[in-house]
Amino acid sequence: MIAGGRPINYLRISVTDRCNFRCLYCVPSKKFSVIAHDRIARYEEILRIARLASDMGITKVRITGGEPFVRKGIFSFLERLCTIDGLRDISITTNGSQLNPQRIQTLREMGITRLNFSLDTLDPAGFKRITGRDRFNNVWNAVLAAHEAGMEPIKINAVALRGINDGEIPKLAGLTLKYPFHVRFIEYMPMGKSDVENGHQILTDEIREKIESAHGRLMPVPRDADDGPAKKFQLEGAPGVVGFITPISSHFCSECNRLRLTSRGTLRPCLLNDYEKDILGPLRAGASDTDLAEIIRAALVKKPKDHHLEAGKPDEIPVSHMTSIGG
Ligand code: SAM
Ligand code: SF4
Repeated sequence: MIAGGRPINYLRISVTDRCNFRCLYCVPSKKFSVIAHDRIARYEEILRIARLASDMGITKVRITGGEPFVRKGIFSFLERLCTIDGLRDISITTNGSQLNPQRIQTLREMGITRLNFSLDTLDPAGFKRITGRDRFNNVWNAVLAAHEAGMEPIKINAVALRGINDGEIPKLAGLTLKYPFHVRFIEYMPMGKSDVENGHQILTDEIREKIESAHGRLMPVPRDADDGPAKKFQLEGAPGVVGFITPISSHFCSECNRLRLTSRGTLRPCLLNDYEKDILGPLRAGASDTDLAEIIRAALVKKPKDHHLEAGKPDEIPVSHMTSIGG
């Protein structure tokens, strides 16, 4: 599949909008509504769309949420997903809180070896402040268990926020000196109604400066064909990689190969644009595979060439928050 000259081979599937954490950059602190259970795509429905997408050229799938591991039945869904011919790369983005060595082993046995953990600080008190939950040790133990089980690569995503976790940036980057982890710093994207303000946003140049003044020069790492949007670097002698995801300071729209399927069964061609096309409604109404393929193609036609989410442009902020789309 092609959209605006870009080959689309990556489907990001959000299996739930529910989450056991309340990260302050992701969900509002005030009460917010969740999607009614009967409006959430059932596993069977997601699998049908995934099969079809695979027939249409999708080779990579990332499972996200909300928190994917809070949804009941997730392991048997993943097992079935792994049997779809043509999907050669299945990975998961998780807060890690529900993972333990046994569950990690189960994932490995299915053939899932790529995990992205969200971890914005190595300080338990800071972790509680950011996520609203006192679960740092659970998450860190899950990261180490994944490492010990031979998961590769383990990616750690940290959203850098001024006055909240900026003091932790050198420590997080320092993990790459000890472990073969990819520690990726993500620029905060103003989405929905999170309580984070634009003043908290730190752009990559500043993050990079903080790392270099603590650890020395970051040397660029050549890109692999399969690399996502992260710009990759290494500290001298480090087994791991430091990455920067720069949706604000440097758009990567021209290289974006993704389509998203939200948990309420809509196709979202761009994370930062609220256009979505319903596929679950037609599927439930009896659409054939040919009709559904046409819906996928029609969604891709709407994939924008660019976004306009530069710092301080409130008119352009998508109204959906991350848990409802899947980051
Ligand atoms: N619950 C899982 C987790 O936290 O990894 C998966 C879903 S979460 C929405 C996916 C990713 O989105 C996480 O890495 C998180 O850090 C990122 N994220 C959430 N809100 C964000 C925001 N406003 N700006 C940048 N990244 C954000
Ligand atoms: Fe939950 Fe992930 Fe959002 Fe944190 S970033 S609230 S863990 S969905």
